[in-house]
Amino acid sequence: MQALTHKSFAVNRKPMTFWERLYLINIIKGMLITFSHMFKKQPTVRYPEQKREFSPVFRGLHVLNRDEQGRENCTACGLCAVACPAEAITMEAAERQEGEEHLYKEEKYAAKYEINMLRCIFCGLCEEACPKDAIYLSETFAPANYTRKGFIYDKNDLLIPNTLTNATALAKAKGVEA
Ligand code: SF4
Ligand code: SF4
Repeated sequence: MQALTHKSFAVNRKPMTFWERLYLINIIKGMLITFSHMFKKQPTVRYPEQKREFSPVFRGLHVLNRDEQGRENCTACGLCAVACPAEAITMEAAERQEGEEHLYKEEKYAAKYEINMLRCIFCGLCEEACPKDAIYLSETFAPANYTRKGFIYDKNDLLIPNTLTNATALAKAKGVEA
């Protein structure tokens, strides 16, 4: 019969010898392969007990930054949203009122700021576009969630803890001891 592909080969239908029918040699060969792997370095990481070290250029979950006085850096200019190729960022701007100078660094601030982590591709373009050092991608990642809504991070989820009022939470967020 004419072969349809170059990959076909004739099946060997020769009867098995006595030793082949015992399968003993093949079992021993298999066991030797198994034992040899017991002494090799394991490529798997036993997460969550062990955590893999991230690359220095790893881009994880976003953080909205504050200045050294604990004021929000973001001025709701929208450049990050324009730069975002996944259209994952939405925001609403508001005017800073008198007496709010200790809360917001600029005269305009983001009253609402949301990132849809299901859309985000963690490209880091928002960080590069920001002229106010207000957003950066940290070395953590978005934890699993049961609902789509749970992946929409609002300002409260993104804002870094205040260095003046919550130094411990800030240190934890940065992954360093207080
Ligand atoms: S990391 Fe990229 S995809 Fe994600 S919000 Fe920023 S610009 Fe958009
Ligand atoms: S995070 Fe930066 S780029 Fe985005 S709105 Fe705020 S100030 Fe503008």
